[in-house]
Amino acid sequence: MMVRIFFVLLLLFSFSACAEETLPLGDGKISNAPQIGYLWVCHQQKGGGGAFRDGDWIQGNVWYPGRKIQVQGDVAWPNSKLTVSVENGARVVRANDLPKHNTGVYPVQQNDPAYQYDRNPNTIREQNVLFYLPLNPEEAQYPSCTGGAVGFSLSGAWIFNSVDGEGRDAVAHEIQDKCSGHPEIKGQYHYHGPSPCMKDASGARNMHSDLVGYAFDGFGIYGLKGEGGKKLRNADLDACHGHKHKVVWDGAEKDIYHYHMTPEYPYSVGCFKGNWVNYNAEWGSYNAEWGSQGMQPAGGQQMQTQQMQGQAGNGRMQQRGSQRQQYQQQQNNPLLILQGAAQILGVNAETLRQAVGGPPPDFNQAARVLGIPADTIHAAFRKAGAPN
Ligand SMILES: [Zn+2]
Ligand SMILES: [Zn+2]
Repeated sequence: MMVRIFFVLLLLFSFSACAEETLPLGDGKISNAPQIGYLWVCHQQKGGGGAFRDGDWIQGNVWYPGRKIQVQGDVAWPNSKLTVSVENGARVVRANDLPKHNTGVYPVQQNDPAYQYDRNPNTIREQNVLFYLPLNPEEAQYPSCTGGAVGFSLSGAWIFNSVDGEGRDAVAHEIQDKCSGHPEIKGQYHYHGPSPCMKDASGARNMHSDLVGYAFDGFGIYGLKGEGGKKLRNADLDACHGHKHKVVWDGAEKDIYHYHMTPEYPYSVGCFKGNWVNYNAEWGSYNAEWGSQGMQPAGGQQMQTQQMQGQAGNGRMQQRGSQRQQYQQQQNNPLLILQGAAQILGVNAETLRQAVGGPPPDFNQAARVLGIPADTIHAAFRKAGAPN
């Protein structure tokens, strides 16, 4: 009798030890305000493509990551480039978006089992990545929304937000490679969540994770582990998917807000906590997987993105409008913006630069220094192509 009970207990124990990981499906968890477990999007997106068939790892409202397949292949990118430097008080990220790790074979090949679900027709292409971030980001009183991408990984590639071109849970629906990445229509290799190929030596030793990337408000994105090596879930984080405590930041311990990756949707940044967001960096990598419609820039009401044509999943690539490219070039050049704003305001560019300080720029301080209303200065910067 005792032996039998022991066996039953043993069976129960081993069953629970092997219990399969189940995650809630993120479909529909899109909000227009900060909300835990949701992604706050600036613009709802439809018609942007993605997987065309659900795999059996998706069951109702949950999915089983252990059952999901990956895009096959092992392609090396020896020309991967990434530098993060500090210049004139800003953090500058330069990269070519080729990852430091190997990737799957893209476009997805017909003999790849992934082809039965997700015929990603895109090729990974070198990009010209350049964007500026505040070196010492500060928390805003109220957070802001996300667009296509939320940050850049130290593994050398974009971190997009958690949804695919149809606004669904991208990590669950789309088939990524073994590093959880894939290219979108322009060839930009990106992740939608954590990647086993983002280096996190501390997390692997069950300490607080290492920095794995930068969000577009300048705050850090750290790996899966919190203090004491705890595997974090949404319940441990705020609505923007971060929290504040002492972490290693620029080589020193600092009590600073930061985001975390989790295995749970929305995976990385749920909204931006910082008081200044480089929406241009975000817009420059918007989340059109391979589909028909581009995304409006977040906070960029004065700009129009040309609608892209083509059918989701058919692999037809379209070029975006030159209007947008011009805007981007201008946006990527803070000197042009400064000179433009100085011209509008009728002041010397260097005087203006010193008056606004930053990044982020301080328009109230500039108003006091220049004797021009802060609104007027802000408007001049926007007219000159600065993000809101
Ligand atoms: Zn933390
Ligand atoms: Zn994607």
